Amino acid sequence: MAPFNKDRTDVIVRARDSGVSTIITVGIDLNSSRQAIKLAESYTEVVAAVGFHPHNVTGVDEVDMADLAWIADYPGVVAIGEVGLDFYRGYSPRDTQLQVLDWQLGLAVKLDLPLIIHCRQAEKDMIPLLRDWTSPHKRLKRLPRGVIHCFSGDTDTARQYLGMGFFISFGAYIGYPTSINMHNVIRSIPGDRLMVETDCPFLPPQSRRGKRNEPAYLPLTVELLAKIRQVSPEIIARETTKNVRHLFRLPTIDTDLSSGTFH
Ligand SMILES: [Zn+2]
Repeated sequence: MAPFNKDRTDVIVRARDSGVSTIITVGIDLNSSRQAIKLAESYTEVVAAVGFHPHNVTGVDEVDMADLAWIADYPGVVAIGEVGLDFYRGYSPRDTQLQVLDWQLGLAVKLDLPLIIHCRQAEKDMIPLLRDWTSPHKRLKRLPRGVIHCFSGDTDTARQYLGMGFFISFGAYIGYPTSINMHNVIRSIPGDRLMVETDCPFLPPQSRRGKRNEPAYLPLTVELLAKIRQVSPEIIARETTKNVRHLFRLPTIDTDLSSGTFH
C-alpha cells in the first residue's frame, strides 16, 4: 500500500531484524494483487495473496474474475485474500459482496489455495455461506480452508469457524483497552489453530496508535498473546509459525528460538 512507497525495503529489513521470517502481503483488488506478486518476486521473504476485498467488489465483473484466476496461478501466490464481507463500513452492496465472495471461495477450492477471510459485522451471512461450502451436498473433492483474519467475534463464533477447520488470527488491536473483553475468546483458540498478523499499515500497537503499523511490530502481538494465554512468547511464536507454514504451504524453517528472536 501507498504508505510504504517511500521506505518499503527498510520496512522489510526491519521486519527481518525483528525476527519475522516471512511476510504474506495481500491484495485488495486486481491492481494491488499484481503489486503483491511483484513484491513477492522482488523479496525472498515476501509471498503474495490475491483477491477482491469486500470494500472493492462494486463493479467487479466476469473479466475481472478471470484476471484474478489467471494471476492466482503465478508463482509466489500462496492464498486468495483478502476476501470476505464487511457490513460495518458497507462500502459495497451486500449482495455484491456475497456474490464475489462465493465466487472467490470456488476459485480457492479449485486452485487448492487457502483463503484469508475478512469479516466485519457479517457473521450471520459468513457462517452459513462457509457452512454451505463445507457441507456434503457440494460434493467437493476439497473443502475450502483458510484463516479468519483480525478476528473480533465472540467465543461461539470462533467455535463455529474452528468447527469448519479454519484458523483464527489476531493483531496488535488485542492490546487496545477496548479489547479487554476479547481475552476469553483469545484463550479459547487451540494452539494449533492460532495465527498472528499486523494488518499493516492499519491497527498499530497501542503504543503507536495513530501511526503506521509495520511487520517489525509483530513480536509485540506475540507477547500480548503470550500474556493473555499465560504461556511464553516462544511457545506462541513456535505455534503460530508452524500453523502459518502449514496452512500456506510455506517451506519449513528452523524454529529453534533459543537465539531469543522469533521466527
Ligand atoms: Zn481485513
